[in-house]
Amino acid sequence: MSLIVAKFGGTSVADYAAMSRCADIILANPDTRVVVVSASSGVTNLLVELTQEQTCDERRMQLIKKIAHIQYQILDALGSPQEVAARLDTVLSRISSLSEELSRNRNKATMDELLAQGEQCSSALFAAVLREKGEAASAFDIRQVMRTDSHFGRAEPQIEQVALLADEYLAPLLSSQRIVTQGFIGADENGCTTTLGRGGSDYSAALLAEALKATAVEIWTDVAGIYTTDPRLAPKARPIAEISFNEAAEMATFGAKVLHPATILPAVRQKIQVFVGSSREPERGGTWIRHQVEDEPVYRAVAVRRDQTLLNLHSLQMLHAQGFLAETFATLARHKISVDLITTSEVNVSLTLDKTGSDSAGNGLLSEALLQELSQHCRVRVEDDLALVAIVGNKIASTPGVCRRVFEVLEPHNVRMICQGASPHNLCVLVSESEAAQVVSALHKNLFEQ
Ligand code: ASP
Ligand code: MG
Repeated sequence: MSLIVAKFGGTSVADYAAMSRCADIILANPDTRVVVVSASSGVTNLLVELTQEQTCDERRMQLIKKIAHIQYQILDALGSPQEVAARLDTVLSRISSLSEELSRNRNKATMDELLAQGEQCSSALFAAVLREKGEAASAFDIRQVMRTDSHFGRAEPQIEQVALLADEYLAPLLSSQRIVTQGFIGADENGCTTTLGRGGSDYSAALLAEALKATAVEIWTDVAGIYTTDPRLAPKARPIAEISFNEAAEMATFGAKVLHPATILPAVRQKIQVFVGSSREPERGGTWIRHQVEDEPVYRAVAVRRDQTLLNLHSLQMLHAQGFLAETFATLARHKISVDLITTSEVNVSLTLDKTGSDSAGNGLLSEALLQELSQHCRVRVEDDLALVAIVGNKIASTPGVCRRVFEVLEPHNVRMICQGASPHNLCVLVSESEAAQVVSALHKNLFEQ
């Protein structure tokens, strides 16, 4: 049996018209049994502001009103069916009481509970839109299935538990109806609500697809797939029809934030193909991410990731010594920091931090505690305002001439760091944020527009 998990992002469920378009996409394919939704566009940002300490009471009222406005507009367009109206009232009053509770007692568990309410609204409304079109559909509380650890704000899903729970609670429902459920949220073993980090709904969809052994995951967003680069930086950027998991893993964190990077992991484990397309213009097609692809060009895309932090560690202890790197990485691991790029010399290590999917409340990764711990065994310097530009493709490290074509473009620019050779699928350079756009468009011109 074919089973498809389809995920719709915030802009795809922003209002009634958008939801209705998405519902048509779902109805066009009887295999699409599980629908994962983000919160309606803007709602998670409003909720994040509600969780912040500096938000005053008056602003809080405004924020809650804004959220209510977005959600009730959709309800109105649906003709306010009673059970959905009641559900929305419950969620909105829960938002008020949680926000009040937070203003008295700030804690991460309550923050996650509050952040999770956006997806509660959108899933209830979306299921109603499907029903309005005559389809059997219900909203399902994913917290019954998406078991995570208790790392609030950036919880880790427990893959095996998720598979068992999905088998027990979710799979039996699918033959008789479509299930609409929440991305981004889960629950720990005590039943406390957790979140997977910003943009986590893609990851939720991929995890559910893995748990249910689905044939494909569809990520419906506001762009028609993955492009050779961000079209805002290079107007001649083209959509990519098919890309391998390996290339996509290098790409995922980049570009127009098309895909949450972790999305690829469950798909790779189960060889589930991933489709990325535009819910506004489904007829334009999109990008398929597959285990094996027909065409493997040297240059597939130029990707950029902004807002990079470079951590420079210097220690004479490193000279002819052992264990310095081990100690450094153990410290980073204890602070749950995922490292992206690394370069080393005899007495220095430079590394960039993977910021994507950062904490749901948007907190930075470099805490004082971490910096202090690192300072105990080396000198630490932090550089900000950097951007990582990556050339993604195939056989990059074994194709003569790649470096020349890349570096001729970089001539006028200062390159802070270069990573090449570890992966056959990319070559990365770190440049100052202010030069990134120029570097990307020049690289795209040289590698894709000749
Ligand atoms: N609503 C959440 C966010 O904006 C999760 C998601 O959209 O993927 O981060
Ligand atoms: Mg999103």
